[in-house]
Amino acid sequence: MEFKKDDENYIYEVISKNVKKYRKLKGWTQEKLAEEINYSLSFISGIESTYHQTFSLGAIWRISRALGVDFAKLCEDDSLSNKSKYINYKCNKCGEETKLPIEMVKLFKDINEITGNKNLPSFDCTKEDCNGKITPTNPMDF
Ligand SMILES: [Zn+2]
Repeated sequence: MEFKKDDENYIYEVISKNVKKYRKLKGWTQEKLAEEINYSLSFISGIESTYHQTFSLGAIWRISRALGVDFAKLCEDDSLSNKSKYINYKCNKCGEETKLPIEMVKLFKDINEITGNKNLPSFDCTKEDCNGKITPTNPMDF
């Protein structure tokens, strides 16, 4: 859903997407994040849902510290930045699609090359109960 910037739902949506993104990048489930900051699971899933439960600055501050992400990063609208900063990945098992920052993928690619591994970096799927691997949807992105 798209909100106009003068609608306060806009910032809730931006933060909601970012919490989900950075939580997944860290490989955490919603349960794990809830546990780390001592909030209920329903509170975390509420933040990440499109229903946009309101939340306090303090809650976001705690989440940013737990995830190790700058507070300001959680308030940044990704859709405004260059899309090519991300590489599309897809799970070979559950089909879940995700975007990974290109800098991170390149770093792993370099590490792979040092160890003589010519494959493009793949990662464990972060979806619960899925032990699939996520691989680049379009190898031409490299
Ligand atoms: Zn999966």
